Amino acid sequence: MLKYIDIYSEKRTHFIDITDEIKEILDESNIKEGICYVYVPHTTAGIFINENADPDVKWDIENTLEKLIPWENNYQHAEGNAAAHIKSVIVGSSVSIPVSKGKLLLGTWQGIFFAEFDGPRTRKVIVKIIEG
Ligand code: ZN
Repeated sequence: MLKYIDIYSEKRTHFIDITDEIKEILDESNIKEGICYVYVPHTTAGIFINENADPDVKWDIENTLEKLIPWENNYQHAEGNAAAHIKSVIVGSSVSIPVSKGKLLLGTWQGIFFAEFDGPRTRKVIVKIIEG
């Protein structure tokens, strides 16, 4: 069971909550027990799980990454988007969520975010649900 989610980021750094889309894919799969694997096949984007209740958390993460990894910093990479590659490495390219009784076992405050670091762009997220 493999599905793609199309993402349209609107700015250079853009965190997009994709929890509901992933829940819909899980519902359609009819898989009740297993693992939901969410993967970003891009080198300047990432995927992470964190709080989606208070939007300030998302802003704090974005702002802190910006400070740690500034866009201009005498990087070698000629394309000019080295900061986006570095943020992608730090955030990571995938998350796995246990599935039980047809539900994602996310904590109360957890959501799944696509993280754009070199937008705006059209992106894909791959969702693979493995029964077991
Ligand atoms: Zn590049």
